[in-house]
Amino acid sequence: MGSNALADLAALKYDLALANRMVAHEGVLDAFGHISIRHPEKPDRYFLSCSRSPELVTPADIYEFDLESQPVSVPADVKLYGERVIHGCIYQARRDVHAVVHHHSGSMLPFCFTDRKLVAVYHLGASMGVEVPVWDMRDDFGETNLIVKTPEEGRSLATALGPNWIVLMRRHGVTVAGRTLPEVVFRSIWAARNAEYLLRGSEIGNVTPLSRSEIEQAEAYNLAPGPLGRSFEYWTRRLEKAGELPPKGKPRAEARSVKKPATRAGVKTLARAKRKSSRR
Ligand code: MN
Repeated sequence: MGSNALADLAALKYDLALANRMVAHEGVLDAFGHISIRHPEKPDRYFLSCSRSPELVTPADIYEFDLESQPVSVPADVKLYGERVIHGCIYQARRDVHAVVHHHSGSMLPFCFTDRKLVAVYHLGASMGVEVPVWDMRDDFGETNLIVKTPEEGRSLATALGPNWIVLMRRHGVTVAGRTLPEVVFRSIWAARNAEYLLRGSEIGNVTPLSRSEIEQAEAYNLAPGPLGRSFEYWTRRLEKAGELPPKGKPRAEARSVKKPATRAGVKTLARAKRKSSRR
């Protein structure tokens, strides 16, 4: 691998650690949940942290996995997340997905154990897309401990997601997909806000959600580089003010070849996302 590729990989791990901390800082991820990103050069691989709470993730915690969710190389004493198949199975099913978030956000949970439908109630909620399907693990697997751990369970979840961007998991949580890391962060946080406002609005009056056409138009507008970058920069700044930015990667062989450490990470991530979307 050339030094540019190594530098890109080090920057990617930094950005993934940053995204973990950011989504946690905004109250969507908590002790549990995780974010992955597909390998930019090898589409049959992805990156994910070892088992830690998202707000603690550093670049050095991030490992490479194949799409069966087996680690490519990991020290024996490193503990891995139990629900990795969520990521691997979605990457297998959806070639257009390059980043995945799984979380148990308190604002989304009420829609995971009631018959109340999660709908977009303001323009930023439109990034959820027109349909938000619900997956009930009981349908295929009966009574379980609710943890998505086998390839069969992961595939069943990916099937329920279908061509959509968010799938609610009954009595468990939420899985969110995106074309880029900034997009999946954007969708995860604003969808959680949308759920919060929907619940709050329901207490004071009748809910009038966005129409299908409004969702489609607002989604296209919001997911343009401008609004995506503005949100990513805002959440990065909030994390910086809290003193919670990730430490730079440890000086391992990989990081040693990086001349300049990743700085202004949000801006860099966005530039990469732009390059990626212009390639499609
Ligand atoms: Mn979970």
